[in-house]
Amino acid sequence: MKKILAVLCLFLFGQWGFFSHRMINRHAVFLLPPEMSVFYKENLEFIEEAAVNPDRRRYAVEGEAECHFIDLDVYGNIGYDSLILFIPWDSAVVKFGEDSIRKHGIVHWNLERTYYRLREAFLTGDPSRILSASADLGHYVGDAHVPLHTTSNYDGQKTGQTGLHGFWETRLPELYFQDYEYFTGQANYIPDRRPPVALGILNAHKLSQRVLTEEKILFSESARTKFSFESKGYGVQKMVSPEYAAAYHRRQDGMVEAQLKHSIKMVADLWYSAWVEAGQPDLKALAKNFDQKGFRESRMKEVNELKLILKVDRPHEAVPQN
Ligand SMILES: [Zn+2]
Repeated sequence: MKKILAVLCLFLFGQWGFFSHRMINRHAVFLLPPEMSVFYKENLEFIEEAAVNPDRRRYAVEGEAECHFIDLDVYGNIGYDSLILFIPWDSAVVKFGEDSIRKHGIVHWNLERTYYRLREAFLTGDPSRILSASADLGHYVGDAHVPLHTTSNYDGQKTGQTGLHGFWETRLPELYFQDYEYFTGQANYIPDRRPPVALGILNAHKLSQRVLTEEKILFSESARTKFSFESKGYGVQKMVSPEYAAAYHRRQDGMVEAQLKHSIKMVADLWYSAWVEAGQPDLKALAKNFDQKGFRESRMKEVNELKLILKVDRPHEAVPQN
């Protein structure tokens, strides 16, 4: 029973926090030009809600789990890191072997694949696929900006800091989202996605060291204040205390907010670029003829089916310890 509850918590409060993924997709919509936003705003509820679909699939679909991260540190020095982020999939398979690549994460290749899925959906004028691919793309961009999604020490488990993943990407945004500034300027066309995506991941990887060391220092100074008990849902959970979170938040110096903002801008840029490359199809006409009700019903059915499958693979989130 305890295990089922733990898995359910993991499912409900997954990586980047479900809340943050929703915020990223929602705010990206408002950076789009009017020709696009007319369609996205009509379907804002779906874009936001479906931002967490890839995490729902992590436990149900084979091959999904590795789409959310990359352990850059296993590839050695920084030059090598860059190589793995730029090398095409086929060459990487020859060089490192597919099993190894999948084991250490494929978020950047998956991002590229999802981008092409979206462009294809624009080309064929399929509103359901445009929405699904947009929501997915937003999710993977968000994951690629989370520092601990770029290292094999993804939960601080190698340095005695287990639970840090959820603390950074779920607890901090939950406590401080109202203070964040989300607007980042209008979406821009990106002719070649690989460099900005690679730079974003490299930057997140550099930040991962700060995420880890600053918590280590804070814990050495204030270990006794780390946890408190709070009501959540139907029970009481052992959580990182607001006091400890505030101290860590100050030490992070706006890192969570900055990563959220970068994510939002990149999501909008990629949606916009895919639309431009597809010849700027008329989304106003698409919005008019779209069977929103039928689409929502079929998506809800799909989501409910996924919810029935509770299978844990690599934990990216601290399972509550009560
Ligand atoms: Zn994810």
